[in-house]
Amino acid sequence: MRIGNKALIKELNQSHVFTTIRSHQSISRTQISKVLNLGLSTVTYITEELVEAGLVVENGTAHSTGGRKATLLTFNEDYGYAFGVKIEEDQIIVACTNLNAKILRKETFTYEKETEPSKLLERIILQIKQIIQEMNLPEKKLIGIGMASSGLINQKQGIIIRSTLLGWSNENIREQMCEAFTVPIFIDNNVNAYAKAERQFGYGQGLSDFLCISIGAGVGASLFTNGEVNAGHHGGAGEVGHMVIKQNGYPCHCGQKGCLEMHASERFLEEEGRQTKHLYPDSPLHHTGFTFEQVASAAQSGDALAIGLFEELGKNLGIGVLNCINLLNPSAVIFIGEGLVAQEFFMTYTIDKASDNFFSKAGCEVGFQVSKLGEDAWVQGAALQAIDYWLEHPINEESRLLLS
Ligand SMILES: [Zn+2]
Repeated sequence: MRIGNKALIKELNQSHVFTTIRSHQSISRTQISKVLNLGLSTVTYITEELVEAGLVVENGTAHSTGGRKATLLTFNEDYGYAFGVKIEEDQIIVACTNLNAKILRKETFTYEKETEPSKLLERIILQIKQIIQEMNLPEKKLIGIGMASSGLINQKQGIIIRSTLLGWSNENIREQMCEAFTVPIFIDNNVNAYAKAERQFGYGQGLSDFLCISIGAGVGASLFTNGEVNAGHHGGAGEVGHMVIKQNGYPCHCGQKGCLEMHASERFLEEEGRQTKHLYPDSPLHHTGFTFEQVASAAQSGDALAIGLFEELGKNLGIGVLNCINLLNPSAVIFIGEGLVAQEFFMTYTIDKASDNFFSKAGCEVGFQVSKLGEDAWVQGAALQAIDYWLEHPINEESRLLLS
């Protein structure tokens, strides 16, 4: 924190005015003055600077209620651009976005599993540079690059500590990326990235304490506390997939038995399906695998094995979510992830179970939502790491000042 002085107060006012404009579609100077309880002349002075810098544009006039029409101000989302990168097990998604994380261009490329992390990062760098060149974007308008991957990540140092899915450990992503770019580089867990997008455009808008639970190949979570991602001490808060929910349950790759992930993700469908299918000789699942899509398609046709698997998965997930709610007291739980393709077959059980939490019984309701954001939210959230940093209050010494 910096010592309070005139310059800092000016920066803070500037930042508050800017944040207010950004959080509204469009707003007049008088409205800003009312919202912030700041003198109209100060607001006028600051907004002139912001308009001159190109961060804010004048955009039409407000409906008149008599007297002079007020000019409306809008955040110039095209003032600069950012990149969001999602590192998946077998492919990379690179997206160029504007400052509202709207995707301007997106490229996906696949890679061989044995590819060295440093070689893969070289390809990512090349892809980003190629997009900048092809879109003819001025390099100085690039404000940052945000990346997302599975695994345990040290956000502060920009290191993937361990990702079993990628087979990577102690990869210093930031260091390698910084050799190619001069802008800030960020990396976080992909569930945290998605949660950022959820807060920006989804059900997380306006919420300061909420939980995102992802269901897919595994189970993950991201926790927002006081409007920020709560990363925990090592950066790994949210490993709820390894919360033990069943004594002597299915063995997990983490070394425990009965982890939530082994009883409420695709791993459960595979494991439980394999062990119980002999009881259902007519099930179409004898001839397919046990992915969410495959089991959902069998459930659609009324297959009892598939329907039973989802019922069990839903209840197990509900127990995990209930435990999370009791521990964290979030205002809402938002479900995300590829497992949602089958939500119609399990979500009711999950919400029923989780609704039985301590707080709901005391009349303090917890909201449950199923994310409506699509696949793009992963890379948009990745980019938002860079965008939010760039736009954040100027109380962090190292943060770039709006008009400097
Ligand atoms: Zn585990």
